[in-house]
Amino acid sequence: MVPAGGPGAKKSILERLNSGEVVVGDGSFLITLEKRGYVKAGLWTPEAVVEHPNAVHQLHMEFLRAGSNVMQTFTFSANEENMESKWEDVNATACDLAREVASKGDALVAGGICQTSIYKHSKDEARVKKLFRLQLEVFARKNVDFLIAEYFEHAEEAVWAVEVLKESGKPVAATMCIGPEGDECNLTPGECAVKLVKAGASIIGVNCRFGPTTSLKTIKLMKEGLQAAGLKAHLMVQSLGFHTPDCGKGGFLDLPEYPFGLEPRVATRWDIQKYAREAYNLGVRYIGGCCGFEPYHIRAIAEELAPERGFWPPASDKHGSWGSGLNMHTKPWIRARATREYWENLLPASGRPFCPSMSKPDI
Ligand SMILES: [Zn+2]
Repeated sequence: MVPAGGPGAKKSILERLNSGEVVVGDGSFLITLEKRGYVKAGLWTPEAVVEHPNAVHQLHMEFLRAGSNVMQTFTFSANEENMESKWEDVNATACDLAREVASKGDALVAGGICQTSIYKHSKDEARVKKLFRLQLEVFARKNVDFLIAEYFEHAEEAVWAVEVLKESGKPVAATMCIGPEGDECNLTPGECAVKLVKAGASIIGVNCRFGPTTSLKTIKLMKEGLQAAGLKAHLMVQSLGFHTPDCGKGGFLDLPEYPFGLEPRVATRWDIQKYAREAYNLGVRYIGGCCGFEPYHIRAIAEELAPERGFWPPASDKHGSWGSGLNMHTKPWIRARATREYWENLLPASGRPFCPSMSKPDI
C-alpha cells in the first residue's frame, strides 16, 4: 500500500477535511482485544501494547487494510492515575506501534486521551490537566500527527482536555460519549459542541456508548447547536458496533448485556454501510467506530463511500460489493443473494428463541 498522492505525500487531517475528503477512522480496540484474550474487562487499561505488541500491531494492520486513514494510539485510560509507573512506556510504545502501521499506508497517527476518575471525584482542574499534559508530552515527543480527546461524559472536562492538547499546536479533535440527552451535567449536545469549538477543537463529535442510529441523532443535535451559534467545525462520529435503541442516558454500560453478552447486538456490515451513508449525508466527514466496531465494519464504511473517496480498500479484494462474490456459488438460492437489494432488506434473526429484541437498562 502506498499513500494516495504519491510516495511520501500524506495530507494532514485538516487538509483532508478542509478539502471535503472523507476520513475513515479506526474501530474497536479494548472490546476486541478483550475477546482475543489480551485485555481484561473492568479497568480496560491497555497494557497490551507492551505485553502483546504483536496483537495490537495486527489489529492496527487490519484497520489499515480495511481502509482506515487514522491509527489512533491505543492509550485509552493509559494515564499516570490508572497505570502508575507503566504509563509512560505504554504511551510511547502505543505511538511507535501506530506509526509503524500508519507508515505502511495512507494513514495518520492520532494521540488519544480520555476522561479521568480524578474529574469525577474532585473536579480538580489543575490535577486533571496535569494528567493530560503528561500524556501530551509523550505524544509531542513521538510527533503524532494530531490529537483526539475522546470519551468524555462531561463537557467541562472535555474542554480542559482540548485546552491542554491545543498547547501542542497540533490539530485537536474532541468527541464525547453522550447521547441525545446530553452530558452528565445536562448540557445538550448542541451546548457541548459549542463549548468544544470555543475551546479550540477543529473537529467535534461523539464516540462510544451508543449505537450507529443514536450516535447520528446526537451528531445532528451538535450540528444544529453549532449552526445556531454561528460556529463551524468538522464533524466526527465513532459509534459502537452494537445496536442500542433501548439505552438510557448512560448508553450501553447500563445494559444488562454489558460487557460480556453483547454479541446478539452486533451490527451487520450492511447496517454499517447505511450508517456511513447517513453520516455522510449529514455532513460528517470523519467516520469511524468505537467498541464492537471490527475491521470488517470499517471496510463497510470504506466500500459505501468508495465512490466519494475514489478507491477501494485492500481488504475489499476478498469481499466484493453487496455480496457480488456469491455470483460464483453452485447453489442457485445462494447465488440469488448476490444483490444489494437482498442484503439491504434482510431482517437477520438472532437464533435465540426466547430472547427479547430489547432489554431494560439497569439504571
Ligand atoms: Zn468505545
